[in-house]
Amino acid sequence: MENKGYLIYEVGILGGNDKVKTNLFVLFVLKRRKIMNIEDIRKEIEKEIDAVKDLKELNELHVKYLSKKGIITELNSHIKDVPNDKKKEFGMEVNSLRTYFNENYERLRDKFEEELLNSKLESETIDISLPSTKVSMGSPNILEKLIEEVEEVFMSMGYDVVDGPEVEEDKYNFEMLNIPKGHPARDAQDTFYIEGEEILLRSQTSPVQVRTMLKGKGEVPVRVICPGKTYRRDDDDATHSHQFMQIEGLLVDKDISLADLKGTIDVIVKKLFGKDVETRFRPSYYQFTEPSVEVDISCFNCKGKGCNICKHTGWITIAGAGMVHPNVLRMSGYDPDIWSGFAFGFGAERMAMLKYDINDLRVFYNTDLREVKNFDRGEISNND
Ligand SMILES: [Zn+2]
Repeated sequence: MENKGYLIYEVGILGGNDKVKTNLFVLFVLKRRKIMNIEDIRKEIEKEIDAVKDLKELNELHVKYLSKKGIITELNSHIKDVPNDKKKEFGMEVNSLRTYFNENYERLRDKFEEELLNSKLESETIDISLPSTKVSMGSPNILEKLIEEVEEVFMSMGYDVVDGPEVEEDKYNFEMLNIPKGHPARDAQDTFYIEGEEILLRSQTSPVQVRTMLKGKGEVPVRVICPGKTYRRDDDDATHSHQFMQIEGLLVDKDISLADLKGTIDVIVKKLFGKDVETRFRPSYYQFTEPSVEVDISCFNCKGKGCNICKHTGWITIAGAGMVHPNVLRMSGYDPDIWSGFAFGFGAERMAMLKYDINDLRVFYNTDLREVKNFDRGEISNND
């Protein structure tokens, strides 16, 4: 036992006062030739705890008292050497010492850890004046942006945005829109045929209107816009393209009139081109509407005085529209004697060209970033 470095034995009397009497057990430290009772150990812990300055020193204390060879651990292991009638008291004394040490150890550990964290946070502050790493940002295609803007306005008026196939049947693209086979109106919409004469690339988004009405099975109201790609057999130049985007709209309900159409168009053009822009209708002709109109807006550029954009007329044509032809309603399952509706179609590229002052339609489909940046929308500050 002596070889372990500690010897426990009962001393009985160390002094006359109660405090000493309660600490009957003495730790005889052979190494240091020092006799200590538990109260002395507690006092030493107290002194050392007061002096400890950081986590490292605190951990050293932990090793000194509570490691496998630590003083408190050793004391505990000597319980077997204590006379039976004193074992309980001895055990309580050692436990009390262990609790005392642990409480102080945990308190100081939390304190030092917090101090360490704070000093780290202080030393690792971010210097916001340092230049950042450049990240190139993308921005939406200008056509996409315009279409989304239009969609939002119509959705706020209760419209649904619907989609349809680009590879379409002749039936939906022409026949059910009151353009039978051999009709001269087809000439202006010559398109690409995929298979025979029946499967084609749609020349307009109107077949989506037909499909929507058929799906509606006579239910009202029908309120949709259908933006999408369309195709025509055209030679590409600054104002023509074999592929372009249309934004068509359809409303079918009871007692719908041209006045409703005008009010609706007015909302969208004011949103896109400014509050002071006015709308006018001119008579026109389409197979699928009756009556049909051309939609003009007052020139947002010159306010009617005359400029290049409006070709010195003060007005710009932006859409075709009209009241849905009774034949179209009937073919799609709506009785024209009960229901009426309007339809309109904008060219998305034309709208974007006007809005963003673009003079070549091909720019929308160009992948040259230098060109695209010429009409940067300014909503995202981009890096070069
Ligand atoms: Zn003008």
